[in-house]
Amino acid sequence: AGGHVTVHETLPSRVLVGAGARRAVPEETARLGSRRVLLVATGSARAAAEELVRALGPRLAARFDRPVVHTPVAVTEEALELVRATDADSVVAIGGGSAIGLAKALSVRTGLPQVAVPTTYAGSEATPVLGETKDGVKTTRRDPAIAPGTVVHDPELTLAMPPGLTLTSALNALAHAVEALWAANATAVSDALATEAADGILTVLPEVLADPGGLPGRARLQQSAWLAGLCLAQTRMGLHHQLAHALGGTFDLPHAELHALLLPHVLAFNLPAAPRAAARLERVTGGDPVAVVGALARGHTGATALRALGVPREGLRAVAERVAAQPYPNPRVPDAEAVTRLLEEAW
Ligand code: NAD
Repeated sequence: AGGHVTVHETLPSRVLVGAGARRAVPEETARLGSRRVLLVATGSARAAAEELVRALGPRLAARFDRPVVHTPVAVTEEALELVRATDADSVVAIGGGSAIGLAKALSVRTGLPQVAVPTTYAGSEATPVLGETKDGVKTTRRDPAIAPGTVVHDPELTLAMPPGLTLTSALNALAHAVEALWAANATAVSDALATEAADGILTVLPEVLADPGGLPGRARLQQSAWLAGLCLAQTRMGLHHQLAHALGGTFDLPHAELHALLLPHVLAFNLPAAPRAAARLERVTGGDPVAVVGALARGHTGATALRALGVPREGLRAVAERVAAQPYPNPRVPDAEAVTRLLEEAW
């Protein structure tokens, strides 16, 4: 292909959307021909997990309740033992990106079909990407077979999300949309998804934060995050995700909080070099995107700076140098000096 040809690919997936959609999970696994379901769920999804256990009855093969952030291979191996010992023939994940990541890791090793039931806005259920850690090193692979074939978006599962996770996870989703807008391989489809995702998130997030138990707001936020997850799957992410990966991997930082605090800084860095993205985000925010996103990010009652996450200031330069040495595609060239300044600001 020539320099100006962009390839648009979509993954085959079946997506159920709506309040109560989780109750269709047993039927969905039956549709996959599964008779022995492995359930992967975090403690935060206990109620939904219990409900599914009752509904599956004897079709539940086993249950694994300890997914860990960044998908450590040792945890995957523990869960694989369970797959083998119980002859599981499908995996259902209920939880955030950590639970969904474990299901992906199991599926890629065994070929088991997956049903993903997300309870955050991270978007992993939409992507063919798996990040895993072993001996402190994070590796990422991309393969269409990694993407869950069935996804269930039930907003009722997000009603009890704490305000801090709601805010930071929504900004994590917003970051996917923002980077899709300035992606070198953006298409009309990704622009449409990203614009609607950003509009939905920015419009409804204040409403959800004011009324966390309101179902219509939660539903719109979840659907906007779904669009953002599709952006993550369809376009190549830039400096924001590269910084999140580099910092998160080096200093073992909480995923959503890190994304949330970085986003305004990367917006300020990139928007002058990304006029199309800037124009769309100005339209969506009705003002200055940096100020609007910055105000949301600073509203977090947890850590809003790298310093508060325990990142040592002396470590920033090395991260900037690594990023500058092998940059992800980005509208503005991230040289080490400029990225160090960005990180100092975020610190
Ligand atoms: P997470 O899954 O680690 O969850 C964070 C915490 O929130 C956990 O303690 C969890 O139990 C809790 N939680 C989740 N949902 C909740 C709810 N509804 N109510 C209350 N508590 C809830 O966090 P995450 O941000 O969803 O996912 C982060 C992980 O996912 C990282 O490992 C990241 O690398 C990965 N990820 C991967 C992709 C991909 O495409 N491969 C995309 C996004 C994230």
